[in-house]
Amino acid sequence: MKKHNFSAGPCILPQEVFQEASQAIVDFNNSGLSILEISHRSKDFMDVMDEARNLALELLGLEGQGYKALFLQGGASMQFLMTAYNLLQTKAGYLNTGTWSDKAIKEAKHFGEVIEVASSKDANYKFIPKGFILPEGLDYLHLTSNNTIFGTQIKHFPDVDCPLICDMSSDIFSRKLDFSKFDMIYAGAQKNMGPAGTTLVVIREDILGKVTRAIPSMLDYKTHISKGSMFNTPAVYAVYVSMLTMRWLKAKGGVEAIEEVNNRKATLLYSEIELNPLFKGFAAKEDRSTMNATFSLTDGDLKETFDAMWKEAGINGLNGHRSVGGYRASMYNALSVESVGTLVDVMSELERKA
Ligand code: PLP
Repeated sequence: MKKHNFSAGPCILPQEVFQEASQAIVDFNNSGLSILEISHRSKDFMDVMDEARNLALELLGLEGQGYKALFLQGGASMQFLMTAYNLLQTKAGYLNTGTWSDKAIKEAKHFGEVIEVASSKDANYKFIPKGFILPEGLDYLHLTSNNTIFGTQIKHFPDVDCPLICDMSSDIFSRKLDFSKFDMIYAGAQKNMGPAGTTLVVIREDILGKVTRAIPSMLDYKTHISKGSMFNTPAVYAVYVSMLTMRWLKAKGGVEAIEEVNNRKATLLYSEIELNPLFKGFAAKEDRSTMNATFSLTDGDLKETFDAMWKEAGINGLNGHRSVGGYRASMYNALSVESVGTLVDVMSELERKA
């Protein structure tokens, strides 16, 4: 039986995508070759890459507005340094909302002055800082839209007069936003898009070429733009599966339609966390993520019973990250409302038993 997979990643995808993706390993497009063995320069794969890049822009509503979509390697972590390498000339602002923002800050410091415009680190990142004042003359402001580990999510993005960059690794394609507010968006594939191994970068071409330093070819966005993401061998399979997931999402009605489902799942789970006295949420209510819900038991003695119950119900991957403890229910696009219903049933069953 397929598990209810609440794991934070990598790679929570719809069953239909897994099926099509597995067929392509055996025989891709009836070519008599596996997707793993076709040439990445073949027309068949070039079509996949083009479709993936086009779908990314289409789903974000960013076609024809000066943005380019790239599928790069090195994970979102590589983007922590590539953003700064390509865009940080003097000083940049970073909102520190979690472990991943903190890591982005650390990398950017190699390239220039980094101003932490606000941070919730002292509160173990329970909330998203708001109302901060931006210093003048920033090369860009960097945000993390969804804090995978702590279960917080930015709901309102600031209007700024410098380029806005956002790490959307754990909530890309999960909700409708005015994506044209952002000059650059990046996301590791492995939550809502595809297998680990590729990272989506969506960037406005006109923010490039402003730093004076020399940039090695492989780390230069311009190189990848000019080669259509084919400067070196791309992560063929990861791009292919990402493309299938984006096709799936488009057929479902795009980010607007999936947002409605994601909101239903989040409401179902957070209502139970609020109503059931045996559980308490970790993140500040107004900042709670629709993708990763963090919570714990109010009575630690019930841990063994609860853990046995959710495992028995076919639930996988509910343990919290070590820096928060408790539980984390990740509800990426591919997780069904029924799976969240199963978890909620287990939680209320625990209340009845206790
Ligand atoms: N940013 C966020 C928000 C993440 O959740 C993660 C990983 O979970 C990363 C960055 C790091 O991504 P990668 O492992 O692809 O480098």
